[in-house]
Amino acid sequence: MAARRGSASDKKSDKNRAVSTTPTSMSDKNFECSVCELIVEHEQKGIECEICKSWYHIGCVNINDKEYEVLSDHKIGTIHWYCTDCNVRSVELLRLVFGLQDRIQKNEREMDMMRLETNAKISKIESEYEAVREDLKNLNKRIEEDIKKCSENIRKEMEHKINKEEMVRALNEQKGDVKEQVVSFRDVVKEQLEQEMLTKVDDTLKREFMVHMNDELGDFQRTINETKQHVDDIREQEDIEARRCNVILYRVPESSAILSEDRRKEDTVFSQQFFNDFNVGFVQEDIKNVYRLGARHIDQEGGIRSRPLLVQMANRQIKNLIMESLYKIKSLATKFKSVVVAHDMTKKQRLECKDLVAQAKQRSEEESGDFFYRVRGPPGNMRIVPVRKRQ
Ligand SMILES: [Zn+2]
Ligand SMILES: [Zn+2]
Repeated sequence: MAARRGSASDKKSDKNRAVSTTPTSMSDKNFECSVCELIVEHEQKGIECEICKSWYHIGCVNINDKEYEVLSDHKIGTIHWYCTDCNVRSVELLRLVFGLQDRIQKNEREMDMMRLETNAKISKIESEYEAVREDLKNLNKRIEEDIKKCSENIRKEMEHKINKEEMVRALNEQKGDVKEQVVSFRDVVKEQLEQEMLTKVDDTLKREFMVHMNDELGDFQRTINETKQHVDDIREQEDIEARRCNVILYRVPESSAILSEDRRKEDTVFSQQFFNDFNVGFVQEDIKNVYRLGARHIDQEGGIRSRPLLVQMANRQIKNLIMESLYKIKSLATKFKSVVVAHDMTKKQRLECKDLVAQAKQRSEEESGDFFYRVRGPPGNMRIVPVRKRQ
């Protein structure tokens, strides 16, 4: 029988192995018994540990012949033998392996638990997500509806605005032509507007718009009135300027000449002579033009009623010099003595003057002292002055 029984890998080479004569050679060193430290010879019964690959005399590891027979006859891989050290270590290893197995199983259980929990959480999150999605969907729907509503309102609003703008444009176009229509204008616009509104906008909007439009029209009316007042003021000022150099002569006999040119010539000559006699440096060129005011009137007997004569002077200085020298009239030639000289006044100034004259007359009548009252001063600066009565 094979003397030395080796591990699966070594068994073949082991059988063919020659008896070693040199116990300390390198190859024999591998067969040294780990217990007695002597070489396990070929003819000796020896056994190799499957784990550490160390050799042992069977006697050194307490294996009897019968046990050795069993171990030697078995098919490789069915019965294993480990040395004492390896046995101890393998038990420890097994224990470690079992411990690891336990821990792995425990981890797996924990993992399963965690997986279950995670799955539950995911399901919960999914259902929550689903709910949120549903909410979002509803919200979107609501927003869409709101947007639609808003758009509709904006559209209506725009319609108002456009109508309003059209009206304002229409108003502006008529602005240049407001003078006499001002009073009725607002009513006309309002009526037109109402007609338009009847066909275009529903009642509520219409009312709202009309209130708004009334305000706008009120503002516009005020603007028109202010503008009109301003224009009147300017016209009055222009009128005053135009009249500043004029004088009006009353009771100048009117010519019976047929041609107006001839009549005008006569009036010019009369005026020149008249002003010349005041001795204030008047020259012929100081008269720019003369006009008779009002319609020519011839009565049934062929007599001509003398109209006021407007004389346009070339400058204000000469007019003022003459106005300041009116006291000289009573010492002029007879044909000039009855002439009355007056400022050329605007309608407003005439009314003012008339009012002052009435006041002066009343005061003169009321007071029985040494004074009576007269209106003096140029237009724009007319006033009532006391005049001492002659004794
Ligand atoms: Zn031994
Ligand atoms: Zn061993």
